[in-house]
Amino acid sequence: MRLILRQRKFLIWGILALFIVTAWFSALFFVFKAYETNKAALLEAELKRFNGEVQSTLRTYESFSNYIFDEISSDEEVLSIMRDASKATESEKDELRLQLSILVDKRYGFMEKYEFKQLHFHLPDTESFLRLHAPAQYGDILVDLRESVKIANETKSYVKGFEEGRIINGFRFVYPLSYKCEHIGTVEVSLSSASVLKFLSELYPEEDFLFIIYSQIIQGSVFHAEIEKYKGSPISDMFSIDEEVEKIVSEYNSIIPHSDVEFFQGLQDEYLDKIKGNESFPALFHYKGKDYKMGFLSIRNVIGKPVAYLISLAETSDFARLRKDMYRQATLVSLLAISIMAFSLALFVYHNRLKEISQKDFLTKIYNRQRFFEIAEREVRRSKRYGFPMAILMMDIDHFKIVNDTYGHKRGDQVLKEFTCLISRNIRASDVFARWGGEEFVILLSQTTREEAVYAAEKIRKLVDEDKSNKLKDITVSIGISMLDAEKMDILDAIDCADEALYMAKAEGRNKVCSYDEVNIT
Ligand code: GH3
Ligand code: MG
Ligand code: MG
Repeated sequence: MRLILRQRKFLIWGILALFIVTAWFSALFFVFKAYETNKAALLEAELKRFNGEVQSTLRTYESFSNYIFDEISSDEEVLSIMRDASKATESEKDELRLQLSILVDKRYGFMEKYEFKQLHFHLPDTESFLRLHAPAQYGDILVDLRESVKIANETKSYVKGFEEGRIINGFRFVYPLSYKCEHIGTVEVSLSSASVLKFLSELYPEEDFLFIIYSQIIQGSVFHAEIEKYKGSPISDMFSIDEEVEKIVSEYNSIIPHSDVEFFQGLQDEYLDKIKGNESFPALFHYKGKDYKMGFLSIRNVIGKPVAYLISLAETSDFARLRKDMYRQATLVSLLAISIMAFSLALFVYHNRLKEISQKDFLTKIYNRQRFFEIAEREVRRSKRYGFPMAILMMDIDHFKIVNDTYGHKRGDQVLKEFTCLISRNIRASDVFARWGGEEFVILLSQTTREEAVYAAEKIRKLVDEDKSNKLKDITVSIGISMLDAEKMDILDAIDCADEALYMAKAEGRNKVCSYDEVNIT
């Protein structure tokens, strides 16, 4: 019974501890989740910002490109050359090409100063008529390679976007040309990736930029002689980087040198799969104790096929701050949880201690008189309901005063302790053993007949008498027995009877067991 109660106490404490631990871990989980959410939001904002940087750069160039087109499309001479070229023989075309190149050469020189790389005229059937940036390369039909030129000529409308080409891969603005309502071809103004990178690097010096293009795109589009201008990118051989981009990178990038193999290897290990997914994404890369925020902008060509990545990189301390906040919150939560646990454990121990103090005798640690009554009353109720017999043993150590007088109180206390230990060890767990006061003790024997009670009392008397241990060797005990008839008497009546029997035992010379019905056993 005592064990069950004890276990129940521990169970309650266990449930409370489990509840606190669960709450603790849930709080830690939420702290971590909040960190992850804030981190993702911050990174997403960074990607948006980077995209904004790129879009505004391209928009600036587009405005400038529109201006160039306006000039060209209002130049009667240019238009009439293009109109004639669209109907000319090959030899006539050569003459017209020369005229056109002389006419627009100055304009092209002006464009070059502002980082435009191409001014390209095409005939309506997408034949390359004049490349100002490569005047010797002409006459090739672009319909299979240059979607922008094809669409602009077919739909006679303006087309813009990134596109791989025979000489450069870059951002293109292709305008339809018409002369007196007749479609006479297209003119294209292009910007190389390196130009965009240079513009970005000048505008945002605290960031590094990189432009990588799928190697297979290069293989399938650029003139053979141009392929040599590309080499493997530091991130992966799947991507290439052109020599102009590399020049800009080594001139402007200051955070991570292009040659930092370890950095790019780490980047590859962590992000190559994501890069292969061809979507734009932000990244937080931790390298040599520092945080780097990165933006990977997926570049798609005119028909929406992913062909390249524009990458930004900058050092950041925002995430270290976020992490610090997270650790601080996690520490606070943990401290709070540990404090609550410690407090409830202390409360639990204190409560048990108080209970023990209120229920147990300070010296012998067996039940005190009050607790004895509580348990005994419960047992009397049970006895009434189930009709089982009960007995009371009142015990008094013989001539205990002499022990105190001879050996002192301290020794007397030790004898009392030893005495209760001996008895506790030799009674049943269901028996209720308590200190009545002084050197008097009481035992309630539940479900016990008179014969069994006499037997138990005699056993105790003998045990004490025959104990030869240092402290108990001269000690004897007298015991009075009474039967508790739950229907007729209460616990106090039974104790009075047992007390009377004890008095008889003393009177008969001590070291005796007497039963209330005055039967002297020994
Ligand atoms: P009897 O055989 O008639 O019981 O003689 P007795 O000497 O045991 O009886 P008495 O009632 O005259 O003396 C009891 C003694 O028990 C007196 C008291 O000092 C001692 N006593 C009571 N409580 C304690 C205690 O907690 N510690 C110690 N050391 N002695 C105690
Ligand atoms: Mg005594
Ligand atoms: Mg006494």
